[in-house]
Amino acid sequence: MSFNIPRGTQDILPGESERWQYVEQIARDTCAAFQYKEIRTPIFEHTELFARGVGESTDIVQKEMYTFEDKKGRSITLRPEGTASTVRSYVENKLFAQPAQPTKLYYIGPMFRYERPQTGRYRQFYQFGIEAIGSKDPAIDAEVISLAMSVYEKAGLSNLKLVINSLGDKESRADYREALVKHFEPRIDEFCHDCQTRLHQNPLRILDCKKDRDHELMATAPSIQDYLNDESRTYFEKVKQYLTDIGVEYVVDPNLVRGLDYYNHTAFEIMSNAEGFGAITTLAGGGRYDGLVEGIGGPESPGIGFAMSIERFLSAIDAEGIDLPLQDGIDLYIAALGDDAKDYAVSLLNRLRKEGISSEMDYTGKKLKGQFKAADRLKAKFIAVLGEDELAQHIVNVKDTTTGEQIEVKLDELIQMMKAHKKA
Ligand code: ATP
Ligand code: MG
Repeated sequence: MSFNIPRGTQDILPGESERWQYVEQIARDTCAAFQYKEIRTPIFEHTELFARGVGESTDIVQKEMYTFEDKKGRSITLRPEGTASTVRSYVENKLFAQPAQPTKLYYIGPMFRYERPQTGRYRQFYQFGIEAIGSKDPAIDAEVISLAMSVYEKAGLSNLKLVINSLGDKESRADYREALVKHFEPRIDEFCHDCQTRLHQNPLRILDCKKDRDHELMATAPSIQDYLNDESRTYFEKVKQYLTDIGVEYVVDPNLVRGLDYYNHTAFEIMSNAEGFGAITTLAGGGRYDGLVEGIGGPESPGIGFAMSIERFLSAIDAEGIDLPLQDGIDLYIAALGDDAKDYAVSLLNRLRKEGISSEMDYTGKKLKGQFKAADRLKAKFIAVLGEDELAQHIVNVKDTTTGEQIEVKLDELIQMMKAHKKA
C-alpha cells in the first residue's frame, strides 16, 4: 500500500522550507516595524462565520469551502481566508475596548479552498495578512498598502505593479450597482452561469469574473469612479495623496472590484510583472471593509487589510531570479575515530550546541573519509578530528575548511574558539 499527497497540497521539504522561513521572517520584521501584532486563530471555524464574513455571493462560499460535520453534527469549515476569523476574534475578545487603537493584527498560516489546482493555485496555501481595525483614516489605508509593498521590496522584488480603486461607500455603490445592472442585463445570457446569478445578487462581482473577462461589455462597463459621491471621492483622493507622499507608485483601475462582499472604499491588488511568473499575476489583494465588524456582531469598527500567499511570493522571487541570502552551512563537524572518541564526541557536541554552535557528527558508522564527505556536504566551516591519540592528549585537530589551515586546540578551549569564530 502506498500513499499520495492530496491534490492541490504540497510538502515543503528542507531546502525549500528555509526559503519559506526567510520570507515569513521579512513579513514578521516588517510587521514589527509597522506595529502589527500576531494573532493566531483556529484553522477551522463555524461555517456560518464565513457565510457571513466572506459573503454568500462569493466564489469562496459558493464553491470553494472545505465544509464538514463534526461528530456532534455542527457544520465546520476549514478557513478559506483570514479576515473573518480575525474579525470574529476581535469582537469575541473585545479588542475594540483596548486602549491602543486601531487594533493592528497580522497572521501567517494555511488556508483551504477547493479550487482547480494549477501553478500558483492550491487547495492548501499559506497566507500572510494584516488587518487594521478601528480607524477610518486614509493614512491607515496608505499604511496597509505600503506595508505589503515593503515586504515584497525587502525580499528584492522590483517588478511590482500596485493597482488601486475605490468602491465608494454604500450610497455610491447603490447607484453604481443600478448602472451595472442596466449595462449587463440586456445581454446577460451571453455571460456565464455565475454572472447571471451575480447580476442581481452582486453585479460588481461580474467585473471580477475570470471566464467573461474578455466580453466586450466588460470594457464598456460604467466606471465606479463616475459614481463616487463627494465623501468617497475625497477619501480616495487623500489615500492617493498619502501614497504619493510616501513614494508608493500606483495605477488606478476602475474595474478592480475584488471578491469579498464587504469591501468598500479602497481596494487594491499587487501584481508581478516579472516575465515567466505565469498566468496568475496577482500576488496580494486587500481592501477596506467598513461594516464587516458589525456584520459579525461587533460595534461599528471600520477596517482594512490585505492577504498575500507565500507560494506566489516565492514564485515571484524565482521569476525575478533573486537568490535569497539564506544561512548556509554549519559551524563545526566533529569527525570521531574509535569508540572512546565517539563517546566523547557525543557530550562535546551537546555542549557546543547548547552554546548555539551549529554542529554535527556521524550516527551511521562512517569511516573517517565518509565523515569528511558528510562535513563537506553540510558545508561545515570547521572540522574537528578526534581520535584516540587526541583524546589521550585532551586536544582536537581543527581544520578551517575555508583556508585549509589546521591547528591543535585543547579540548577545553574548543567551545571558546568556536564561539569567537561565530561572532567574527
Ligand atoms: P484569485 O483571483 O487568484 O483567485 P482571490 O481574489 O481569490 O485570488 P483573495 O481571496 O483576495 O484571492 O486572497 C488574497 C491572496 O491569496 C491572493 O492574492 C493570492 O496571493 C492568494 N491566494 C488566493 N487563493 C489562492 C490559492 N488557491 N492558492 C494560492 N494562493 C492563493
Ligand atoms: Mg480565488
